[in-house]
Amino acid sequence: MTVAGEQLEPRIQAIGQEIFAGVGGRRRFDPLMKFVMRDEGIKSQLFRFVDCLPVLRGSSDVTRHLREYLDPVAPNLARLLPSDGSAGGLIAAAANFAARGMARTFIAATDVDQAVRAIQRLRRQRLAFTLDLLGESVVSEREAEQYQSQYLSLIQMLPSRLAKLPEDRLLDRDALGPIPRLNLSLKLSSLYSQFDPIDPMGSTGAVLNRLRPILRAARNAGAFVNLDMENHALKDLTIHIFQTVLMEEEFRDWTNVGIAIQAYLRGTLDDLHNLADWAKSRGAPVWIRLVKGAYWDIERVIADQNGWPIPVFTDKSESDVNFEDCAEFLIANHALLHPALATHNIRSIAASLAMAEHLKIPPEAMEFQMLFGMADPIKAALVKMGRRVRVYTPFGRLLPGMAYLVRRLLENSSNESFLRAGFIEHVPVEKLLMNPRNIQHRRPAAPPIVPFTNEPPGDFSLQVVRDAMKSALENFEKQSDTEYPLIIGGKSVRTEQWIQSVNPSHTNRNVGRCGSATVDNANAAVAAAKNAFFEWRDTPANARADLLDRVANYLSAHRWHLSAVEVCECGKPWREADADVAEAIDFCRYYAWQMRLLAAPNGQNVPGELNRWTYESRGVAVVIAPWNFPLAILCGMTAAAIVAGNPVVMKPAEQSSVIAAYLAKAFSECGAPAGVVNYLPGIGEEIGPVLVNHPDVAMIAFTGSRAVGLSINEQASKTIPQQDHVKRIITEMGGKNAIILDDDADLDDAVAGITASAFGYAGQKCSACSRVIAVGEVHHALLERLIESARSLKIAPAEDPACKVGPVIDAEAKSRIESAIESAKKTARLAYAGEIGPLATEGYYIAPHIFADVDPKSALAQEEIFGPVLAVIRARNFEEALEIANGTRYALTGGIYSRSPAHIEQSKREFRVGNLYINRKTTGAIVGRQPFGGFKLSGAGTQAGGPDYLRHFLLPRCITENTIRHGFIPADGVEGCED
Ligand code: NAD
Repeated sequence: MTVAGEQLEPRIQAIGQEIFAGVGGRRRFDPLMKFVMRDEGIKSQLFRFVDCLPVLRGSSDVTRHLREYLDPVAPNLARLLPSDGSAGGLIAAAANFAARGMARTFIAATDVDQAVRAIQRLRRQRLAFTLDLLGESVVSEREAEQYQSQYLSLIQMLPSRLAKLPEDRLLDRDALGPIPRLNLSLKLSSLYSQFDPIDPMGSTGAVLNRLRPILRAARNAGAFVNLDMENHALKDLTIHIFQTVLMEEEFRDWTNVGIAIQAYLRGTLDDLHNLADWAKSRGAPVWIRLVKGAYWDIERVIADQNGWPIPVFTDKSESDVNFEDCAEFLIANHALLHPALATHNIRSIAASLAMAEHLKIPPEAMEFQMLFGMADPIKAALVKMGRRVRVYTPFGRLLPGMAYLVRRLLENSSNESFLRAGFIEHVPVEKLLMNPRNIQHRRPAAPPIVPFTNEPPGDFSLQVVRDAMKSALENFEKQSDTEYPLIIGGKSVRTEQWIQSVNPSHTNRNVGRCGSATVDNANAAVAAAKNAFFEWRDTPANARADLLDRVANYLSAHRWHLSAVEVCECGKPWREADADVAEAIDFCRYYAWQMRLLAAPNGQNVPGELNRWTYESRGVAVVIAPWNFPLAILCGMTAAAIVAGNPVVMKPAEQSSVIAAYLAKAFSECGAPAGVVNYLPGIGEEIGPVLVNHPDVAMIAFTGSRAVGLSINEQASKTIPQQDHVKRIITEMGGKNAIILDDDADLDDAVAGITASAFGYAGQKCSACSRVIAVGEVHHALLERLIESARSLKIAPAEDPACKVGPVIDAEAKSRIESAIESAKKTARLAYAGEIGPLATEGYYIAPHIFADVDPKSALAQEEIFGPVLAVIRARNFEEALEIANGTRYALTGGIYSRSPAHIEQSKREFRVGNLYINRKTTGAIVGRQPFGGFKLSGAGTQAGGPDYLRHFLLPRCITENTIRHGFIPADGVEGCED
């Protein structure tokens, strides 16, 4: 606080006391909530149960879920619930009654008539309102249109009904004159299903197309519109759109608009300064709803999971301090930014009032806002003090309202909650009114020192990141004539034949050309690797690991360039390309760490006997990689082989040989000795068999299709006369991955997750979902929303940041997928086929296709297509769904969306795949966290990026030394074990 610093403190305390006095006896809290809050375990299980309650069909379903949720935290209570359906009706009715009661506390109405009645009740208490329409999260353009039209009809219907209500000067006028009675709050993410900060221009254009008619109608009807603030990632874009539209001629002088700004974010004050400058240049004020912020937990989790800086204050008192600072700024600049201070915290309210008094701003020039169903006594106390209080009033159906309800329940019951402290725990008033600046911050514990951390993915909500990607693309596109010769034994080798790399998004654009190795080149590469073997094997493991760390740093320093190459060469959209580069970096760092662990002394000694367990390099490794994770997979297999002491012949896929050349360059520039990494692009069918059958090759690490993997397995398992070892074969192959959709699943999450898993990178991920198995009744609702979600995906060239579905890799893939689609039409119902439009002649595009009524035994449900084709299968119950899911020859990834704890547990036991994902998409495994790989015909049971992987590249040895000499036994018996 800068206005009067500590001088204002006595006044703040006095006002705070006055509010507390007005609040009266601090009671009033739902007895059910009180019970729930006694135990954190019960609380979280009951909130989870409440979350899924609206979708449960029938009383036995409700009782079953309640039992499943209570069992781990209150087994005695759970046992009281009948398992045979008796009394189920009663229990279900009671649960529904209680949940609806809770919902009614926080959600004002389910339809417009009820909303008007709720408004009347509020106005009788001299409370103003802002209406918020609760909706499902918008996963398609159709849903965004529906959201828009609901707002438009509110604006049409409500003003005349509100006009009939008697005027209340406190609510309907401010210092400048009448203020709108109808006040609406809306979320921009609901106006455009593809709202994404990676594409600010496209998102702005699409949102504005739907926002303008709402603003226009609101202005004509004399209503007020406030934009809500959502996740931090959307903040800059939301402010940008707000400012853009309000600078348009039509809206430039309009003042009945506002935006929410969150004080729990570290950069809020800067945003307010910018908004004030902007409002000045606009020439008309706007309202700012200053909130603390409702997404605190999720902001922390998202930042933690991605390794990004945490955007929110981690200590609540810091948010409280920031709120006071921001409130002061708003009050001081109230002529430009009208303050709407949204808080239930009496200290924050008192501080704002003291500042306003000090700066002498009229009471009507600011208002307070609070949530429906919360802090009612505080609202009443402020009204008594002659202050305008506006109630954020959500309305809508219970099902879409569940997310809102659970957020409120969590907020009310959170340990950090002012209301909990003040109204339940009866913390003394002095403590509640304490200056947050004097509260000792809980210093966050120093982060533990960890031997491995993941490379953070690019945060494309940041302009610097977007700019870096854009300029890398521009630079790389200028290099389309570059040639990339082979590298054998550290020397560049030119070839007669070349592999021309073509941009699949624009087939008339070249990306570069790579040497095409001959059989002689292949033999020479194996010889060079063999030549390098002994020295490399005897290089200390630590030095080999250091090389990988240097490569990781090199890749990290060149990440935008490498991502740009992937976008151009493989048609990877920005985020996917960036994730692939980050994964390659992770593989290097992770295997470096793992090798150091494996190289540490190990063995179990007994007196007189030293045992040393150690690992030995195998020999020449041939690495054969696919194009779909063009850097990560090639780099992962190569890094594992190298760090284990095995020189590599690196054979990239034909379609991704340019990016592979940059990987070879990285190894060379980071100091890999000649012959340790040999770059051998070439035609798989020509040089593959030479490498695989070569007697000097000790191991083959292959990732690719089942057909090629099985044939490599067969060839390499034959021992030819010149060979003195059994070859080690690692094969990672395809999948026919299923997601089971249980009948109690959260459809918002499931539709988004299935869409991303099935159509991300045009379905060309080994982990992609190609089958959805819907249990029972949920099938219809799923199909409808899924089709609309697929229809809303933007099909575009990969360099367009808006691209959600890019091209497939090449002409051969395109025609193979097209013929799979044609055959599928004969056995299943084509429920959706997207359209490519003018892009059809530009590149290898295939739009998303969804088939319904699919026979689980048909080719469509059994064979990998490797494109944007999804089969939807219906199952009668969960058991049948599991049987169908397991009923292919593959076992790579699988997913389940369910809110039944018992079904989730059952799937952990019985859904037999290498990588099972619960309530999330099936793609995007992260090194170290999700070791990746399958079994059955998906692979021989190795998981990349996990603790077992390196061992496949090594030979275990055990050395035993008898240390007894004529009865003399050394005391410690361990010296022989030291490295
Ligand atoms: P692909 O099998 O056609 O090619 C993979 C590699 O094998 C390429 O480098 C190719 O040149 C080489 N090759 C082709 N014929 C060969 C032969 N006769 N001998 C030796 N090598 C030969 O696969 P792709 O199209 O590059 O990749 C897509 C496939 O990879 C899909 O089936 C996908 O599921 C699978 N994949 C699996 C994983 C996994 O981790 N399980 C990961 C990515 C991709």
